[in-house]
Amino acid sequence: MDLLPEHFEAAMDRLPQHVALVASTGEVVWVNRAWASFSSENGGKAESTCISANYLEECRRAAAAGEEIAAEVANGFRQIVAKTAAEFSFEYPCHGTSEIRWFLMRIRPVVDGLLVMTHEDITEQKIAQQKLNTQALTDHMTGLANRRKFETFLDAEIRRAQRSSQSIALMMLDVDRFKPFNDRYGHCAGDHCLRQIGSALRSTAKRPGDIVARYGGEEFAILLHQIEFRPALQLAKQAVAAVRALAIRHDGNPPRNVVTVSIGLSVIVPDRFTMMSDVVSRADRALYAAKTAGRDRIAVAEEDMALCP
Ligand code: GH3
Ligand code: MG
Ligand code: MG
Repeated sequence: MDLLPEHFEAAMDRLPQHVALVASTGEVVWVNRAWASFSSENGGKAESTCISANYLEECRRAAAAGEEIAAEVANGFRQIVAKTAAEFSFEYPCHGTSEIRWFLMRIRPVVDGLLVMTHEDITEQKIAQQKLNTQALTDHMTGLANRRKFETFLDAEIRRAQRSSQSIALMMLDVDRFKPFNDRYGHCAGDHCLRQIGSALRSTAKRPGDIVARYGGEEFAILLHQIEFRPALQLAKQAVAAVRALAIRHDGNPPRNVVTVSIGLSVIVPDRFTMMSDVVSRADRALYAAKTAGRDRIAVAEEDMALCP
């Protein structure tokens, strides 16, 4: 079969992607059906993207009206024309009144003086990707941040505190005698208990920037943002009290016989050598001290004892 230009055009019209051929001057020389109908569905932008309009001119107008995206696309376009880039691609949100939509714009050279632009709706992929990202950072049992998210935040917080010479506070928490709890009441009751502890901790540390995480197993971590020693200790006391107040029966945890937690607290002004592992191990050592001192209490990292009231 001989392929005719109209066959190519018909094929392009069947594509879901919006396709336009644009001269290097910005003049739109051809658009497929999807591009034309997208333009007309999007009211004000209709004339800007149809044949004989000047794409660069429209971008300039939109950029002058404050649309940063337009300036970025025009820049990408010029890079292709100048042959300083082989492709320009750009993902951007285009939120309607009732829905969130994401688009992917691509610009590639065809022949000298001619570029092809494609534009496609990637909302579904974007939503799926965002969901996956959230899931990858969330502990599915408690809904708290998981260890990965916690470490990302801790790392960022250490850097921020290094720049500003401010302190950060870290609490490592561990449920007391949790193995006998599981043995006595069953694993399901154990899971339920961890969820209750998780929400009690979340309501203790709820300032913006604070992060409550399930560090692993029956261990939790709380990172307090821009805080001094005394208020951090106060929050740790509230956390211990909040777990006690859940009054979850645990006959194997004398003397109170309710579920309790132990906390290791470290408040630190990181210097340029401080690493994440230093901060965590200070709080961890303090947690161990709280356990050996009898559990259901807070111990402060040895290095911080001078700060103790
Ligand atoms: P300690 O006071 O010294 O911390 O004693 P412990 O019994 O809590 O310490 P140990 O580390 O011996 O036991 C931790 C227990 O936590 C063992 C494990 O079965 C339980 N555990 C860890 N993760 C989960 C979980 O996701 N669900 C349940 N139900 N139990 C868990
Ligand atoms: Mg443990
Ligand atoms: Mg434990």
